[in-house]
Amino acid sequence: MGAFSREFKPDKVLAFRFVDEELVKALTSFVERENVETGIISFIGSFRQVKLGYYDEKLKKYMAIEFKEGPYEIVSGLGNVSLKDGRPFCHIHVAIGLHDGRMFGGHLIEGDVLLAEGFVQVLEGEALVRKPDPDTGLAYWG
Ligand code: ZN
Repeated sequence: MGAFSREFKPDKVLAFRFVDEELVKALTSFVERENVETGIISFIGSFRQVKLGYYDEKLKKYMAIEFKEGPYEIVSGLGNVSLKDGRPFCHIHVAIGLHDGRMFGGHLIEGDVLLAEGFVQVLEGEALVRKPDPDTGLAYWG
């Protein structure tokens, strides 16, 4: 697919806080409600349980890693919002901390939060749109 870049200007910053919700669903509803097309997501907090993934290029799918016995600190949550199939789509990665300080991380498939608080930096400009790439099975910007 080659290189792709686009310029944006910062628009408003939205703060959010979720308690006892599934984070991917809650964040997706939030950005839909706020009509965010392109944005930067950052958050911290705690998961009760979480399913992370990594992308297997040969199998062309996300392999899940489950963490069921929380709480796990959300050491860092980082993501972006763009349009996929005409709707806002949140792509999120997290680093989670265990009780003994070890850290794991990956692509956030789903996670039940005890608490998550963070921000969405809304970006102004021509919306980023994800398009499917048959070679990798992923949906890229561009
Ligand atoms: Zn990812």
